[in-house]
Parts: sequence; structure tokens; C-alpha cells
Amino acid sequence: MKIGALAEIFPGENRVAMTPDSAVALAKLGHSSVIQAGAGTKAGFTDAAYQAAGVTVLPDAAAVVAEADVLVKVRGPEQAEAQALRDGQTLISFFWPAQNPELLETVKARGATVVAMDMVPRISRAQKMDALSSMANIAGYRAVIEAGNNFGRFFTGQVTAAGKVPPAKVLVVGAGVAGLAAIGTSTSLGAITLAFDVRPEVAEQIESMGAEFVYLDFSETQTDGAATGGYAAPSSPEFREAQLKKFRELAPEVDIVITTALIPGRPAPKLWTADMVALMKRGSVIIDLAAERGGNCDLTVPDEKVVSDNGVTIVGYTDFPSRMATQASTLYSTNIRHMLTDLTPKKDGVINHNMEDDVIRGATVAKDGAITFPPPPPKIA
Ligand code: NAD
Repeated sequence: MKIGALAEIFPGENRVAMTPDSAVALAKLGHSSVIQAGAGTKAGFTDAAYQAAGVTVLPDAAAVVAEADVLVKVRGPEQAEAQALRDGQTLISFFWPAQNPELLETVKARGATVVAMDMVPRISRAQKMDALSSMANIAGYRAVIEAGNNFGRFFTGQVTAAGKVPPAKVLVVGAGVAGLAAIGTSTSLGAITLAFDVRPEVAEQIESMGAEFVYLDFSETQTDGAATGGYAAPSSPEFREAQLKKFRELAPEVDIVITTALIPGRPAPKLWTADMVALMKRGSVIIDLAAERGGNCDLTVPDEKVVSDNGVTIVGYTDFPSRMATQASTLYSTNIRHMLTDLTPKKDGVINHNMEDDVIRGATVAKDGAITFPPPPPKIA
């Protein structure tokens, strides 16, 4: 089959879904590759590098769509991109089907198939295709780097001839994929790192990374938000009160807060309220990774950096992976390549879209002109 990578049209998106290395790996599956001219430039991959990897560079999106059997992209398609799909063609990209019913209808009308990378089930066998996790890992790392860039002091404590420097104190709220990456980065930079999650099972992992788990004064177990599959459920009002009380106690002493709390399918829970920001020291920094879903902090403005009246910087960027486009493209294109490996079981360049396979079934939201979202729950864990 011919795999075609399109340039991203979303403003400011720097990533690309195919790298020269991933194209070489696709060739080993029996596929040939084409790419839109300039698609990899902002991620650091030149057209010449693709050509050297055996990829045909085509002048524009229309040429790629005309030639490719399978299209790969990072961002979900715009309506015009979905309209351009043809009968029997497959698109592999993020798609967010629950939020985009009209796009699904367009794909259905076009007779196309869509594999949504955001719908890959979070089961162990699918980890190599889990693009949400690979991007969240980058976002967590980059959140700490961004915090450091906006914070006027060191992370690590130092004793120097010019004076003693205290370590920074970092609080990470939400210890899922992004949160754990932030915790690891923060501890490795030498900050005192505290972390909180509604799922108490992550405490051990947090502590093994050299951070301190924040316990609440709430019955003997901190278990209110626990749900299945590594995801949280909404908290009870009592639990939430206990959480906010603890955060109010911590607000005056922490220098950096990184919030990553997410409950699937819901707006981001508001956990860092305006009065907590007011309690923080001048020069402190909040990085709100949940900005795209409305933010965990009351004062977050999505895609902006704002400074509160008391001098706290609040960063609500929603494009952290794109800000590390080379790394993000390398990992994302590997996730795509693994998806194509499963779709090409005989490594003979022939796609076998096996809807009996839990991972392929879970991620397929439209197939040959039928909507196949939502999928049934996965059979294996
Ligand atoms: P995840 O589901 O792995 O982790 C979310 C964590 O939040 C879970 O551990 C959950 O238990 C915890 N949580 C839920 N409610 C909580 C609460 N009330 N208090 C404390 N913790 C709570 O998700 P993830 O993949 O790590 O993504 C985290 C966030 O980062 C998401 O909002 C995602 O959209 C966002 N993200 C942002 C960017 C960006 O560029 N800004 C990039 C990638 C991901």
C-alpha cells in the first residue's frame, strides 16, 4: 500500500506524522511512502531527508490524497480534509470522535475508514500505539522546562560562595502520564517535588521517583476518585473540600504548580482556585496542562501566559508537544508505524483491517462508510 503523510494545517502545529526513520520502517512492512513537500520542515525533517529514506515528495496535499491508500496526520482533519477522502481510503490521525460527530458523518458519506489515535485502548498490548501517552509524556517534561523558564530561581538548592540558594518546591496535581513525566523531570532537576492524585495507587510510584505524595485528612483511605483503567472519576463534594483545604495550606509554600488533572469526557476539574493563586509568592509559576479542557486553575487563559495581580505567572499553552516537534514527531510516527504493523500482519504491504482485534476495533471510528464509534469495551486487559 502507499502511505501518504500530509502537512498539518492547524495554525502553529509543528509536528508531522511520518519521519524519514518511520518511512524506512514502513518499507519493511512492504509499504511505499509519499509525503507533502515541506510537511516535516517545522519538525526538523527536510524533504531531502525524506527522499534519502526512499519517500516520494509530492507538491501538495491534493497529490498526496490522490496517490495514497492510507493517509497519516497528527491533528484530526478539518471538514475540507475529510471531504477530500475517497471511498476505500483510510486516515490515521487524532480524531476525537465524541467531539466531532459532523466529521464522522462526512467520513461516512465519503466511504472512508478512520483509525483515531486518541481511541487506542489503554491496555498493555496497545502501549506502543498509545499516542495520547507519548504526547502527554512530552507535555509533562516540557511543562517543567517551561516552568523553569518562567521562574527566576534554580530548581536545585545550592551552597555557593555568593550565598545559599534554597531548592524550589514543585507541586504536581494529577499523576497520570503527564504528571509522572513532570514529577520525574522536576526531581531530576533537584526540586523538592510534591504530588497529589485522587488515585492512591500512584503514591508508591510517586515516592519511588523521589517525590512526596500529598495525603489528605480524609477517612483512612484517599480513594474517592478511583475508577477503572487508570482513569479517575469525579470526586464527592467532601473529598473535593478536603483536597482544596490541603492545596490552600500548600499554596504559600510552593514555587511551581503543574496541574494535569483530567477526568475523561468531562471539563477539567477546577482545583487551583483564584484564592490559592492569591496566597502564592510573587514570582511563582503555574503551568496548567489541562488548559484545553478549560483548565485546572481558575485564572488560566488557554494558549496564553498571564500574570496575576500578585505576580504569579500562569501558563495555559495547549501545544506543548508541538513545541518539541522533533521529539513529538519521532514518537508519534513510531506510534503510527506500530498501528500499521498491526494492520499489516503479514508484512507484505497488504492492509488487513481486522475488526476482531481489540486495539484495531477500539481505534476504528469509521469503516468503509459506516460509523463504528463508540466501540464495544475491550475483551482483554
Ligand atoms: P491521565 O488520565 O493519564 O492523567 C490524569 C490524572 O489526573 C489521573 O491520574 C487522574 O487520577 C488525575 N485526576 C483526576 N481528577 C483529579 C483531581 N481532582 N485531583 C487530582 N488528580 C486528579 O492524563 P494525561 O495523559 O496525563 O493528561 C493529563 C492532562 O494533560 C490532560 O488534561 C491532557 O489533555 C493534557 N495534555 C496537555 C497537553 C498540552 O500541550 N497542554 C498535551 C498533552 C496532554
